[in-house]
Amino acid sequence: MIREKLTPLLDIQELDMKMIRLMRIKKQRYTELKQIDSLRQDLKQQLETKSQEISLVNEDIKELNTRVETLLEKYKTLEDSQSSIKKIEEFNALTQEMTALEREKASLESQNSILLDKKAEEEDILEKIKQALEDSEKNSQDIEADIAVALKKINAEGAKLLAESERLQENADEEALAVYKRLLRSKKDRVIVPLTQRTCMGCYISNTIQHENMVRKQLGLVFCEHCSRIHYIEDETIDQVQEKPRRRRKTAKASS
Ligand SMILES: [Zn+2]
Repeated sequence: MIREKLTPLLDIQELDMKMIRLMRIKKQRYTELKQIDSLRQDLKQQLETKSQEISLVNEDIKELNTRVETLLEKYKTLEDSQSSIKKIEEFNALTQEMTALEREKASLESQNSILLDKKAEEEDILEKIKQALEDSEKNSQDIEADIAVALKKINAEGAKLLAESERLQENADEEALAVYKRLLRSKKDRVIVPLTQRTCMGCYISNTIQHENMVRKQLGLVFCEHCSRIHYIEDETIDQVQEKPRRRRKTAKASS
């Protein structure tokens, strides 16, 4: 009877379902690891960008300082020559030039002050990014350790399921097993399912009465007319299992 060939496959199928769930969890864990890593890479990138911005501000400040120094030297030269000048026109011209330099110096100093503020602001942000990176590294170490433990458990459980499945497969009908495996590969879901009141318990679509009769006859594997899953009639087996204790209860009552 085909039902006898299907019964060990149903056990194998349950193990495969557990395995599929397990692999899904494993994939999730790997995704979590990737997310942690990408967050860390993102913070590192921010840190790098901010450091570059600060070094650019530093260069600007340096350049500005050089300009102020040159200006001061020029001013000093003018001041020195002013003391040796006799003509009032020349003296006035120099004074005008010096006033212009003073104005320029004031402007440079104000630019410098803006740059220093900007630098302080950027350094504040840099410090915050550094702190975030440090925190995330500390936290993710814990999470990564947890995930590593979880993955180890998953792998151990997977190996156990595989060993149990291999043991069951030794006693399974080879041909039916091959069909089952091919279907499982394409559906990644239960592929041997009950036909309940002509409805496939895999795709939940109703099959014809002829189909149901074929399944009942149990002459060979019968596939769902819609989704190609293998069908069996569950009710009869359940009835057999459930009826036995009922009958026994009845006899127990009758004898008492
Ligand atoms: Zn179906």
